[in-house]
Amino acid sequence: MLQLDIHPTGRHFLQIPGPSPVPDRILRAMSLPTIDHRGPEFAGLGLKVLSGIQQIFKTKHPVVIYPASGTGAWEAALLNTLSPGDHVLMYETGHFASLWNKMATKLGIATEFLAWEGRDEHLPNAGSWRRGVQAELIEARLRKDTEKKIKAVCVVHNETSTGVTSDIAAVRQAIDAAGHPALLMVDSISGLASADFRHDEWGVDVTVSGSQKGLMLPPGISFNALSPRALEASKSAKLPRAFFDWAEIVEMNKTGYWPYTPSTNLLYGLSEALDMVLGEGLENVFARHQRWAAGVRAGVNAWGLPIQCADPAVYSPVLTGVITPEGVDADALRKLIHERFDLSLGTGLGKLKGRMFRMGHLGDSNDLTLVAMVAGVEMGLKLAGVKLAGSGVQATMDHFAGHPAPLPRKNAA
Ligand SMILES: *Cc1c(COP(=O)(O)O)cnc(C)c1O
Repeated sequence: MLQLDIHPTGRHFLQIPGPSPVPDRILRAMSLPTIDHRGPEFAGLGLKVLSGIQQIFKTKHPVVIYPASGTGAWEAALLNTLSPGDHVLMYETGHFASLWNKMATKLGIATEFLAWEGRDEHLPNAGSWRRGVQAELIEARLRKDTEKKIKAVCVVHNETSTGVTSDIAAVRQAIDAAGHPALLMVDSISGLASADFRHDEWGVDVTVSGSQKGLMLPPGISFNALSPRALEASKSAKLPRAFFDWAEIVEMNKTGYWPYTPSTNLLYGLSEALDMVLGEGLENVFARHQRWAAGVRAGVNAWGLPIQCADPAVYSPVLTGVITPEGVDADALRKLIHERFDLSLGTGLGKLKGRMFRMGHLGDSNDLTLVAMVAGVEMGLKLAGVKLAGSGVQATMDHFAGHPAPLPRKNAA
């Protein structure tokens, strides 16, 4: 066994926005014996998870499952659709959008990084890292591309570094309004199974996702949901690819198998997660996250601290970023809260380092775990000498008490 030098009592509060807490049900499912991935029993598992995950993405088209973290699935999306030197339009919503952009550059893709150009009142250097994708900027840029050189538009659905959930349907409309043939590729690594997402209806060509956020699994598997146009593009895409090549995987998946050893035990976990999420009903899952997010934001508002997302229309249902007052190091605060209350919060990433922290409210949580998270943060803020306008804990409790979750919450599985 892994020897931890301290063993606090009770549950650790893993309130980072992914990995999210893994339900016991999923951990138990994953403890089943590993079976022969080419044996007769395996196909049942393979076919079940492959069709279940289509329902989560809301797609009728293939979903590829990789034994890789979300970053691997980002790479797969680019490799399978693009050729060296291809021009791609990306949008800077935050740290994850920036990392995907950096990856594309490393792969030899010519990226153009669009961003909102305004100046922010609370964080003058935040640039576009407090807002969602402005679809009109994408439309305007595509209209100028009369030679149709831009091969793809890449955006992040739920920007986990900031807590902003962009309007993906609006991005599709912008591409169509410009009459442009570019593929639409979306990172919904932290949006899937927590925030409303519709691969087919929103005309997304490749959706990239991962296991350790809304799906409540440990890290280690990730996804590419495809469209017929993406599959078509993959036939002529020239970036070198082998392990990540869709063609062979999609072909073998038809019988419930993979060309290589899949992550058998993570697939047991995925099977269980699908039973839980689809049993509850996706729309109920989305509503549950929206309600939690509103409760946590009520707490932050009561403290009088600014929320990282500056546009209430695109508040994330998955996490809330909180800007600390000038001179209060958000990472020192996180460290204090971790040491004193065994509560992990998300760090400020990239250029937000030290200026904000992130509170996750996704997956296997409930009203009381979220009240506890708000309490841990409130105690930490007070210990750090931050003057609070009022009690966030009281506001979060009032919100949850005053907005009962719809009952009964059916969980058919
Ligand atoms: C977590 C996350 C990633 C990175 O995924 P890994 O599993 O850490 O490789 C990328 N994009 C977003 C939006 C994420 O939330």
